[in-house]
Amino acid sequence: MNQSLSIIKLGNPLLRQFSYNVENIKDEPIQTLIDDLIITIKTTNAVGIAAPQVAALHRLFIVASHPNPRYPNAPLMEPIAMINPYIVDHSTETVKGWEGCLSVPGIRGFVPRYQSITVEYTDRNGDINNVKLVDFVARIFQHEYDHLNGIVFLDRVESSQDLISEEEYQKLQNSHT
Ligand code: ZN
Repeated sequence: MNQSLSIIKLGNPLLRQFSYNVENIKDEPIQTLIDDLIITIKTTNAVGIAAPQVAALHRLFIVASHPNPRYPNAPLMEPIAMINPYIVDHSTETVKGWEGCLSVPGIRGFVPRYQSITVEYTDRNGDINNVKLVDFVARIFQHEYDHLNGIVFLDRVESSQDLISEEEYQKLQNSHT
């Protein structure tokens, strides 16, 4: 039966490990993991989740952009499982934007990311996809991709002054609307 999974938090050493390529995408445990991650992403209202966040060291994550107060124009998309993903090419331009993470509760960071990226990944049917991602979706991809290499957004901020509490972040959002 499919279920929402519990998220490991900063301090758990698994969050700092390098994940392994998925060899048999069609195998039931992988397909079940994908279904469970999609349920987890919906129950937490997140826009992305990576397998290592549920203590499964597989190179796969879910991207599920939807409009939100910070990115009202973010595309609404069905959750996509991206398996064995990598960045083929990226813009020289980076942009800073606010990020949070289910594994780092209570903290938001103002994180620089490539504005656009071309990526390749295998989908859950085993087909290879090559797509260009921009802005918010490119940001989600880069955040989740980092998880596969044991990196969290805290490692990417330019200054510790770019880290704020969730409470202050919410105030900041409200003052902008
Ligand atoms: Zn995260």
